[in-house]
Formats: sequence, C-alpha cells, structure tokens
Amino acid sequence: MAEATRPQIDRKARMQIPPQPVPKQDPRERIKNWDEVYLGYDLPTARLEATRCIQCPAAPCQVACPLHNDIPGALLKLEEGDVMGAAEVLRRTNPTPDMCGRLCPQEQLCEGSCVVGKKAIPVAIGKLEAFIVDQQRAMGGQAIPELPPRTGKRVAVVGSGPAGLAVAEELTRRGHEVKVFEAWPKPGGVLRYGIPNFKMDKRHVDEQVEYLRRLRVEFAFNARVGNDITMDELFAQGFHAVFLGHGAGQGRRLNAPGEDLNGIHMATDFLVRANLPPEDLPDHLHQPIDVGKRVVVIGGGDTAMDCVRTALRTGAEEVACAYRRTEAEMGGREEERRHADEEGVRFHYLAAPVRFIGDDSGHVRAVRLQRMKLGELDASGRPRPVPIPGSEFEMEADTVIVAIGYKVEKLLFQTTTGLEATDWGTVATHEDGRTSRAGVFAAGDNVRGADLVVTALADAKRAAAAIDRYLREEQASAA
Ligand code: SF4
Repeated sequence: MAEATRPQIDRKARMQIPPQPVPKQDPRERIKNWDEVYLGYDLPTARLEATRCIQCPAAPCQVACPLHNDIPGALLKLEEGDVMGAAEVLRRTNPTPDMCGRLCPQEQLCEGSCVVGKKAIPVAIGKLEAFIVDQQRAMGGQAIPELPPRTGKRVAVVGSGPAGLAVAEELTRRGHEVKVFEAWPKPGGVLRYGIPNFKMDKRHVDEQVEYLRRLRVEFAFNARVGNDITMDELFAQGFHAVFLGHGAGQGRRLNAPGEDLNGIHMATDFLVRANLPPEDLPDHLHQPIDVGKRVVVIGGGDTAMDCVRTALRTGAEEVACAYRRTEAEMGGREEERRHADEEGVRFHYLAAPVRFIGDDSGHVRAVRLQRMKLGELDASGRPRPVPIPGSEFEMEADTVIVAIGYKVEKLLFQTTTGLEATDWGTVATHEDGRTSRAGVFAAGDNVRGADLVVTALADAKRAAAAIDRYLREEQASAA
C-alpha cells in the first residue's frame, strides 16, 4: 500500500492529548436492559479523540485493517468537523463501518498497530468509526449512488450475513441483478441471529438492509438453499452465478454423556430465543427459555461471552463460565471478558465438562467437570489441556449452554453436485472465491471457518470482483 501524503501537524503536542474514553452503562444497570453497553461519543469529544491521531504517512493501522480503511483520512475529516466527509472516506472501503466499529477486535487489528498505542492508549479507532457512521445515519444516511445500466446478469446470493450483504451491494453497484436467499425469517445472518443487542442494536442491520433494498437488491426469506431450492434449480431459474455466504452456523457438540438432557442448549438456539422476538424466529424456536437461577456456559470465545451476558439479562442469579484452558488462551476479545466480569460472571478456568447429570424428570441439575493443567502446544498453537486424574467436581445448574465453536452445515454439499469441501468441512475455493463448480463462488465463514465480520467482508469484496469478471467474460463470449 502506497504511503499517503499527510498534513503537517505537531505530533508531540498530539501525543499529550489525553485519551477520551467512551461513556458506557454502569454494569449494575446494563444487566437490566438489552441496550448497547456503550453510550457513544458526543461530537466535541469524538473530534478531540480523533485529534490524537498523529497522521502517520505509513498508517500501520490502515495496513492492519483487513479492509484497509483510510483511518487517518477519516479521522482528519472528523477532527475538522466534517462528519459526512469522514463517513464517505470509510465507506469507500467498508460497506458497514458502524458494525465493524462495534464488532472488530480492534486491539488485534487497527488499534493494535496504532503508533500512538506504543506509548499510550491507542486512538479509539473502532468507537470513532461507529460514531462517524451513526452520525451520518442521523443526518439522513448514505446517498443512493447512481447505478450503471443493468447488465442483464442475475446473481443468487445464499445467506444474508456480512459476506452476503457485501456481495449483494458490490454486484448491484456494478449493474447486476441480485436476489438474496435467507434461511431465517429475517435478514442479517449472524449479524441479527448471532450478535446480542447489547453489543450491536439490530437497527444497524435493518438500516443496511433497507439501503440495499433501495439499491434494488431483492430478498427471499425462509428460503434454505439446498432444501427449499437447490443450486441446480437456481441456475434453471436463470441465475448466471451463485454466491455462497451461508456462514458456519452449526454449533459443535461436546459429545459428553447427558448432553441431550432438557435444559442443555446449543449457543445459537439459546441466543436467538433469548435475544429475538418469536416473529423473527422459525416455529421450532418460538418457545422462550426459562433459564432458572443457575446457568453454566461451556466455552471461552466471544460466543460464550455473549451467552453468559445474555443469561444475566434473562434473570439468572448465578452465571458461570467453564473453560478448559486459562484466560491467556481464550480466543475472544479481552473487552468482552472484561464486560462479563464487570457484570458478575464467575470464570472457572482449567475446567472441562465430563458429563451432565439430570434429575428424575430428565432436566439437567449439575455439570460434572474435571480440572485440567496445560501441556504441550497442540495444532492450534495453544497449550493442550491435560486432565488431572481424581480432580472431578460438580457445579449445580438449571441451564447449561454449549458454546465451543461452529462448523459449516453439510446440506449444500449433500445437495449440490460438483461442490467440493475441504478436509475441515468448509467450502473449497481458489483465492478469489471461485469454487469447484463453475459459476459458484464463496467467501466468509463457510470458507474460513468461524471468523470475524471484517474478514468476511474483505473476502466477500474479492469474491464480488471475481463474480463480476466471470459475468463479463460470459457476456463477452456470448456476444
Ligand atoms: Fe479497525 Fe475493523 Fe474499522 Fe478496520 S474495519 S478500521 S479493523 S474497526
């Protein structure tokens, strides 16, 4: 990435500006509601925080951002009070900056590379990104661009999560006709069904979908490709290409004895039933969950943190998280663990479930766990948890939630000829998103395995460019 020309500024003076924290709800209050934890900046404070950016020509934050957002450029506009200009800069590379600002693990990406952060707290890039685009929406939202003449090419997008929505936007802006097929009753995929409101309010999803509708993207809901309609049928209906962005939504099971007892839930089932109104859910998930007093969540990633914090908001009195390694090996964001800790979650590290114990009615009443110690590094590069013999103990539980990761559903492989999977069960693709079947492309969690929203967006943009090339080559060869 070429170095940009940056304005002459007094870097030393800027380094003296104190960090401006974003106000947030008190933990005792926020566990009584579902509102976002962060209350957001006001304009003067956001401008001051943006002024902490020292406008590095090399912009390592921009390099570390998977979308390569021009962060110094956007922050300079904000500093000058030009919020709409700042939003335009971000939207050049990022279709959903308000979501990334809330969901990216900035400490590992942009903020983790911030030069200010080498001596002080990094510039709050994510919170400023969210602020800029929230302000833009409050001021009327992003303008609908003038679209090129239609190419006559139709693309079916499978899944309306981050990758699907990004591909739909990119291709529509290139003149193609796009229809998105979503298996759930409402759009958004993991953005709606995986992320609780206290991390990101659903209005961000609704607003993005409304924008896409105005761009003339079509949506079909309760339409599971591979079941309600097959890939062959999509091509027979006249679609010229298909993009697979169905994600990795199938929860991994522990396969421990007693896992089928009542009161034991997979993370997604629990999260959607607790976080969404019944009308947004398929019939089999309409029944609300009565969590009881004691909840135990198994797992240590961001989904496990979503579950413990959701459990607190549904009225559980004691919420515990059992994880088989230590905090240092936990996969999710430190911020999420801190929020869970502030809200009263008890963490039990180096503890893995060995079985679940039920009462006479077949409902879980306790989890039997075994203490672990850390051993040699395993394939994930983390120390392997090694059971300590004779260390088993029980934790009482009215509800248990299994949040140990996700895999890709097999349905599309089973119903689509010529679609190859990798050894890990993800969709096999070339670098640009082409799959083994002509005209079918894929990107996002169904290719990488469960990962970040921002990496799904970056991969989806590459796949959209490849689809566009494919469609134009087809058109040229037909002419
Ligand atoms: Fe940082 Fe994510 Fe925004 Fe990139 S998209 S600047 S990584 S918050």
